[in-house]
Amino acid sequence: MCAPAEGEEDVRDEVSATGYDVLIVGGGPAGCILANRLTADPSVRVLLLEAGGPDHWWDLRIQLPLAMGFPVGNRNFDWRYESEPEPGLGSRRLHHPRGKVLGGSSSINGMIYQRGHRADYDRWGEEAGAEAWDYAHCEPYFRRLEGNVGEPRGTGRGRSGPQALNRGPAEGPIFDAFFEAVQQAGYQVVPDINDDAQEGFSPLDQAVKGGKRASAAASYLHPVENRPNLDVHCNATVSKVLFEGTRAVGVRYRDKNGETHDVRASETILSAGAIATPQILQLSGVGDGDHLRGLGIPVVHHLPGVGESLQDHLAVHIQHRCVQPVSMSEIRNKAKWPGVVLDAVLFGKGPGSRNPMQAGGFVSSDFADGEPDLMFLLAPLAMHSADESVEVSAHGYQMHVGVMQSQARGSVKIASPIPAVHPKVVLNFLSDPKDRDRWINGIQRARHLLGQPAFRHLDGGETLPGPHVRSDEEIMAWVRRTARVGLHVASSAPMGRGEMAVVDPDTMRVHGVDGLRVVDASVMPSLTNANTLAPTMMIAEKAADIIIGNTPLPVKLPKRPRLVEPPEPSIVPPAPAVPSSAPAQPTAYPSGASLFADSW
Ligand SMILES: Cc1cc2nc3c(=O)[nH]c(=O)nc-3n(C[C@H](O)[C@H](O)[C@H](O)COP(=O)(O)OP(=O)(O)OC[C@H]3O[C@@H](n4cnc5c(N)ncnc54)[C@H](O)[C@@H]3O)c2cc1C
Repeated sequence: MCAPAEGEEDVRDEVSATGYDVLIVGGGPAGCILANRLTADPSVRVLLLEAGGPDHWWDLRIQLPLAMGFPVGNRNFDWRYESEPEPGLGSRRLHHPRGKVLGGSSSINGMIYQRGHRADYDRWGEEAGAEAWDYAHCEPYFRRLEGNVGEPRGTGRGRSGPQALNRGPAEGPIFDAFFEAVQQAGYQVVPDINDDAQEGFSPLDQAVKGGKRASAAASYLHPVENRPNLDVHCNATVSKVLFEGTRAVGVRYRDKNGETHDVRASETILSAGAIATPQILQLSGVGDGDHLRGLGIPVVHHLPGVGESLQDHLAVHIQHRCVQPVSMSEIRNKAKWPGVVLDAVLFGKGPGSRNPMQAGGFVSSDFADGEPDLMFLLAPLAMHSADESVEVSAHGYQMHVGVMQSQARGSVKIASPIPAVHPKVVLNFLSDPKDRDRWINGIQRARHLLGQPAFRHLDGGETLPGPHVRSDEEIMAWVRRTARVGLHVASSAPMGRGEMAVVDPDTMRVHGVDGLRVVDASVMPSLTNANTLAPTMMIAEKAADIIIGNTPLPVKLPKRPRLVEPPEPSIVPPAPAVPSSAPAQPTAYPSGASLFADSW
């Protein structure tokens, strides 16, 4: 039988009256955590629907940490969203990779684990109008999810949670130079960037275990997938939530053969991520009434905040040639790959077992509002393989520079009632009046750090952006021309109580309808000052307790002094002179065929 055309209603399996207790839409970090926690009660029957395929244990493209560039841009693993023209970036369209496989983006991401700054969550408490989302209330859930990273007891980190974490090691001449340069530049080296203060640099925690990616599926779903009360269907793409009046009674999904199924449940939870969750809400009739009517979609509930207030970070790379043969560039030699793979998967060691970005941290720009607003991550390798980079065989190192604070807000809006048509995504990057100052200062500070004497014996000159980019105008032109998304979309269905809020922070229910909740990165009232894997996982852990009705974990913030005193604010001198290189060119969509992803 032919598959129905897109948008046609051809329901083959009819509603099962017995149904499930809970449907979870999306097997990303949030969905996997909910599936684990909700099925701990054997009487609760859960169906998890994931649009992507299984995360096979043998598939090195997603299991080998160093191979993290392969799934990005590959349609077997990545939704490959593309933005609308970004007005602040010369109308460039940006690529928004999102995981389309069990584990969601945690199966294709950079594995870097960062809690964020406590002020992020205190702000949530205010913005969401709920004290229960301030840092004191969120922190126990970070501890609950974290596996041991070797922290001494009493430092406030989790030790026995399901999410395996591994630190650093960030060893070798380039990382040694980096940590020395950090101090020469007036910043601090701290034992753990995930402590309360966040400011400073340290080796980074990564979600890896035994040399393999520790995705949320590996950490939370696979250990419980044999529970009789849990069903997991892959290749099941949900097109809409089914409503009776304003009560959600289940979902419609399409399987890999193109057949459409309706399935019922008492509760539906959308965990499809910050782009797909608002898309599904809108396709289901929950969103701005005028917008939906304009597309011929019957309005179930007018909720104007759906898809509004989307946020992401913006990032660039500063890249240097390295004059000594001490970078990881030899890893590009395919003859070495078998050894690298075996070292990682058999012995859990070597360059294959990690994201090369093993060190980094946070600093305050001159325009910070009381908390660090810049993120710098160092890789001992020139990873960016586009035209403007050093040639891939050359030794180099590069620093990811991200401006982490911005009031810029964008949106996710469906353009068609057909589920397979990607929604329109725009971030309005650089639209916050403070963005320009932060970016110029951020690039100056990054160059200042990389220009310290500690790097002198390695430094073969800056190749990105290169010496032709000096003035403020030149820096901003380069940022507009080359910056990429930070891969941290969030806040498209924010928790809160105002008119533009979508989710009730006390229950995770969608305002105005029954039987429907959202738990994923969409619900963040605002983007965190860090990568978003850890915050999303924390949200799901906490939401699970809310949904089950468990007593919240006790608020128990460790009373401990700051590990290292903050430095005096450093004055950024003009960046050092750098040798010449060719001007930057626009970049192509990640091909999915390179060894290293280039944008986190
Ligand atoms: C390339 C990349 C690198 C990143 N690097 C880092 C990093 O190093 N550190 C970090 O902290 N964060 C990183 N992130 C971000 C982080 O992975 C995400 O913030 C996090 O995974 C969000 O979790 P989520 O559950 O909200 O959504 P997702 O991870 O996006 O999961 C959503 C799931 O829902 C499924 N889905 C979507 N639509 C449907 C539908 N209609 N029907 C059924 N299923 C559906 C998707 O296929 C997916 O499996 C990165 C992201 C990417 C894409």
